[in-house]
Amino acid sequence: MARRYGAWSRSLVALVGGALLGLAGSAVAQDADQNAEERPEPTRSSLAGPTFDTAFRAPNGFQGTHIFAPLAWPQANRVRLGSGAPGVDYWQQKVDYSIDATLHAAERAVSGRATVTYHNNSPDTLDYVWLHLEQNLFREDSVGALSKEPGSRFGYREGFEGGYEISSLTSDGRDLEMAVYDTLGRIDLDDPIEPGETFTFEIAWSFNIPPFGADRMAVEDVEQGAVFQLAQWFPAVVMYDDIDGWNTLGYLGQGEFYTNFGDYDVRITAPRSHIVVSGGLLQNASDVLTDEAKARYERARRSGETVTIRSADEVGDPASWPAGDGPLTWEFRAENMRTFAWASSDAFLWDAANLEISDRGTVHDGNVLVQAAYPKEGIEHWQNAVAMAQHSVEFNSRQWHPYPYPVAVNVNGRVGGMEYPGIVFCRARRSERSLYGVTDHEFGHNWFPMMVNTDERRYAWMDEGFNTFINIYTKADYFGESDDNGRGSPGRMVSRQSADNQQPIMSYPDQIWRGRLGYLAYGKPAAALWQLRENVLGPERFDRAFREYIDRWAFKHPQPADFFRTMEDVAGADLAWFWRGWFYSTAELDQAIVEVEENEDGDWVYLDLENRREMVMPVEFEVEYDDGSTDFRALPVEVWATTNAWTAGWNPKGRRVVRVTLDPNGVLPDFDESNDEWVAE
Ligand SMILES: [Zn+2]
Repeated sequence: MARRYGAWSRSLVALVGGALLGLAGSAVAQDADQNAEERPEPTRSSLAGPTFDTAFRAPNGFQGTHIFAPLAWPQANRVRLGSGAPGVDYWQQKVDYSIDATLHAAERAVSGRATVTYHNNSPDTLDYVWLHLEQNLFREDSVGALSKEPGSRFGYREGFEGGYEISSLTSDGRDLEMAVYDTLGRIDLDDPIEPGETFTFEIAWSFNIPPFGADRMAVEDVEQGAVFQLAQWFPAVVMYDDIDGWNTLGYLGQGEFYTNFGDYDVRITAPRSHIVVSGGLLQNASDVLTDEAKARYERARRSGETVTIRSADEVGDPASWPAGDGPLTWEFRAENMRTFAWASSDAFLWDAANLEISDRGTVHDGNVLVQAAYPKEGIEHWQNAVAMAQHSVEFNSRQWHPYPYPVAVNVNGRVGGMEYPGIVFCRARRSERSLYGVTDHEFGHNWFPMMVNTDERRYAWMDEGFNTFINIYTKADYFGESDDNGRGSPGRMVSRQSADNQQPIMSYPDQIWRGRLGYLAYGKPAAALWQLRENVLGPERFDRAFREYIDRWAFKHPQPADFFRTMEDVAGADLAWFWRGWFYSTAELDQAIVEVEENEDGDWVYLDLENRREMVMPVEFEVEYDDGSTDFRALPVEVWATTNAWTAGWNPKGRRVVRVTLDPNGVLPDFDESNDEWVAE
């Protein structure tokens, strides 16, 4: 495949792959290693002694803990193995939904009725079942409304009355009791659900659609109608897993969702003038489309080029919907999804094309119907939205894992950018760059966390960070640019991390200081993975491990330790220093040159280095000689295992050193650049 790397990146990778990580050592590493056998006795007047204690300093984040020490991960067992793979006793729950819903467009409300089938695959007896009641976030008195700034992206909007009305809850014709605590509801059961048993219940609900739904769902008025984006819109069974039992972290806004895989049969009744799209595959095109539109829809399924199913001229024209009166019911089927989202509008233009994925996905035959639904306000750039989505989905399928769903739908409306399986919501209308950026990001979430189902209420970095990382490569390919480390560029990282009150990446999203979610959940973890791929392991070694992580955990529920362990298991590396430095602490990096000296015979150079803050990274430096030649040299991170002061040495082969530069490619987030260069007097 045609991958592009910057020139510096390629040379760096070659060097790193050989020198830093081959623990057996390489010519470069041994040459630069002061313990190499051919090293002569030091003859200069004074070798710089360590200027710090030999024990690692630990001013914050990991007091008393050496940065190289093993991390205290949960004890491995037969559910989650020490290798980071799921074990023979791995289990997960499954929840299937059959839903009939109606969009009351004029009233701006949704009503629905669902039959929910809960499969208890756990070894445990369950006395109650928890439900997510996420619409309750939009009550004036919800914890989320009261704990976020009013009017903010995740906050409460004055004057809106939201929340669920639950009109019935039954099982086998008998009423069930539910205790409601804000966005969670507990159904107490007369008969517990035994291991291996299935529990079925019916629930009916309605709610007013929030015009600003925490940037996850919304209604937007546009010139030719209104765009409804619906998500987190039905009572869903909470995740019960082997780590936390029932995952009873409520919905406060910043924490997205962590839900069960299951199959969805959803029938959505909407006004006849509407186009309805969803993360599922349309089952009854003949009922809801005109003959002409149906023919275009079928053509799109066989076309690599974008086919317009409803054009700008047709919006509002009764000839563009089936003859008759009253609403229409659109039927969708979605398998193995962690939730179901949809959108509906009388103002939608609708484009589609096929994307053939060479390796089959999990629930499709290799063909993905890529779609874009948008009001005419977005037409300038959205007429290319299908092609943009095709690029993103195809690239990630080839690079990481086949796209798993039969549809990939992009919807333009008020929601700035939000992802659901098979369908994403993107606001961008102003430029190709912004639309590709958000499209690629939201579709990237189909890998993390839609397929690799992580706990978004606790670990935003496992979806936002991983996704921001893979976006670096799709974006570079789309725009034909060299990849950089995206939002985590070293200079920006240093400035973000220089602010007060730092928190580690491992912080729960609803406990992240305002304004810092973008850095801690997106930028810093993406920068960390970029460092790990380009600067520590090298692409070949990293990609093998990262793909293995996806393969092992696709359609399962990994925890952070499963990721860390898998990377070490497959890459063959002890990375405790990396995880602790980047993920578990707020450690900062400062590599410094103290002095450069030569011995009396002029056949040995001593470079005294110090690691002056908590983070450790491999060392790279460029040496310039008086004859104009240069050497690129490297030291493995292990030089910092017992000391903060290290002397590197090598034979200059008759040349005089005139300059030494640390991190010559400028890839490290080094907090003090003033000590990164030495120049001969
Ligand atoms: Zn995201």
